[in-house]
Amino acid sequence: MPVKGRRSIAICRRCNGAIAVRIVSDGSIRPIGTGTHCSCGGDSFDVIGSPESVPNDSTE
Ligand SMILES: [Zn+2]
Repeated sequence: MPVKGRRSIAICRRCNGAIAVRIVSDGSIRPIGTGTHCSCGGDSFDVIGSPESVPNDSTE
């Protein structure tokens, strides 16, 4: 069954660190494993790549 939200990689605008994120259906970007913020406390992210290139059923 499909996972709610798609996973991607984003760059934190505060610390420029790459983090795994989940893009939820309402468009929000949620870092995986750190709640709603980067571990540095930043809450703005630039998602890398197009969402279309990251299938929900990734075999990662
Ligand atoms: Zn950060």
